[in-house]
Order: sequence, then C-alpha cells, then structure tokens
Amino acid sequence: MRRLLIAGNWKMNCGPYDAAELLEGLKTKKAEVDEHVDVLVCPPFVSIGMAVKYLYDTDIQVGAQNLHFEENGAFTGEISGSMLAESGCNYVIVGHSERRQYFGETDESVNKRTQIALEHKLAPIICVGESLEERQKDEHFELVKDQITAALKGISETNALDVVIAYEPIWAIGTGETATPEQAQVMHEYIRTVISDIYSNETAEQINILYGGSMKPANAHELLSQPDVDGGLIGGASLDADSFSEIITIAEELS
Ligand code: PEP
Repeated sequence: MRRLLIAGNWKMNCGPYDAAELLEGLKTKKAEVDEHVDVLVCPPFVSIGMAVKYLYDTDIQVGAQNLHFEENGAFTGEISGSMLAESGCNYVIVGHSERRQYFGETDESVNKRTQIALEHKLAPIICVGESLEERQKDEHFELVKDQITAALKGISETNALDVVIAYEPIWAIGTGETATPEQAQVMHEYIRTVISDIYSNETAEQINILYGGSMKPANAHELLSQPDVDGGLIGGASLDADSFSEIITIAEELS
C-alpha cells in the first residue's frame, strides 16, 4: 500500500538561523511520525546542513528544491546530485512551476534532472500542473500527460518506483485558492492512468502522487482523504511548525 508523504517546500525562505527556529518547533511537535507516513522538509540549499543536523534523530527527512543535471564542473551557482546526497538529502523537487516559470526550465531539463537524481538515489518529486488559462481552455489533462511523459522519458520501470509526482495546479500555488478535493482526485486518477500506460498498472498503483496548492490544516483532511491523493507538497503552511505538524497529524489519522 502507498504511504502518505507530507513534504514541505520552504522555497526561498529560512536561512540557517530561521531554519533552526522552525526545525526546533517541528522537532518539539513531531520528532516521531506514524510508521505509515513519510515526512520531509526541503529547505533552501544553505539550510540543508542545519536541517540534517537538527533532524538526524527524528522521523523527518530532508530534501532539496532543485539540482543541476551535470555531475560537476564549470556551472557557477549550481548544485549537483552528488552534493545533495553527500549532504544527507533523500529527495529533491524537480520542475516546480516556479522553476519553469522564472528560470526557464523545460520538460527536457526536468527529464535530465530526474535521471541524475535517480542516479544519486535521490527520490525526484516531479512537479506538474496547469495554469488557469490552460484549465479554462480544457487543456489541463493533455498538458499534464505531456509533462509526465517527458519527465519520465528513458526512466526504467524499476527506477520509476522511486519517483514521486506532485500535481500542482499553478492557479492554486501560493494563492490561497485550492483545487476542490474532486478536482484533485480526478486529475490524480488520470495521472495514474498516464503512468500505467507508460509502465504498468502495478507500477502506477505504487507511485506516490502528491497534491500541492495552498494545502493547509483546514483543507488537508478532505484532500488527503481522496483515494488517489497520496500526500501533499506544501509551501506556505510548511513555514509554520504548528500548521505543518497539524497536517502531519491529519495524515497520521488517515493512515
Ligand atoms: C508549493 O510551493 O509547491 C506550494 C504548493 O505552495 P503553497 O502551499 O504555498 O501553495
């Protein structure tokens, strides 16, 4: 059975000092997590070391928000998969809509990042999702299918089992607007059929599909109750130890 994954994306928030404060709060509330739930925080690169240090004796794992697709070399300002693995990360977010929108990431570069993440035993959390305009034009299913197909190009079925997909409708990220539980379920079910067509039904049933877009304690229960919603990628609410812990508790209750 799929385990629920509750992942916090801190975005460009919390340098080491603020990270320490947030981690302290989180550790006080949720050092131990139900065995059926996975919990992850993704701080900015400079706070990963602090997070690994604070969380080493807890059930909370640490991931990164991005990685470069080359091993090493003259790529000023970039961070490689081996550096993240060496720093104690288990996961890495790939192709977040903010990366696609502001930093020119494409389906092709998302695919390269996914491949290198897997090579370094970092579980890639591949973000997909449509803009409001695309949804209004009824293009959202086709777009999400294309994003997933491109991201998984060349990834073996065995490696695909380590992949996490995050469905994040762009219109719901950081806006306070959330997809209804029904909208999320319909898309997640569709994503599973896309994965099933690429690999097999068995593999599609094992892959975690997270919902992201203004998830908070007030809507987490409804969203996480949907049969194909296997967790959340949480931005704003993960910056508050109380809110993030509450969402983890909701996931524990549902497991
Ligand atoms: C995100 O950053 O992936 C996200 C879903 O943000 P928020 O929860 O703030 O909408």
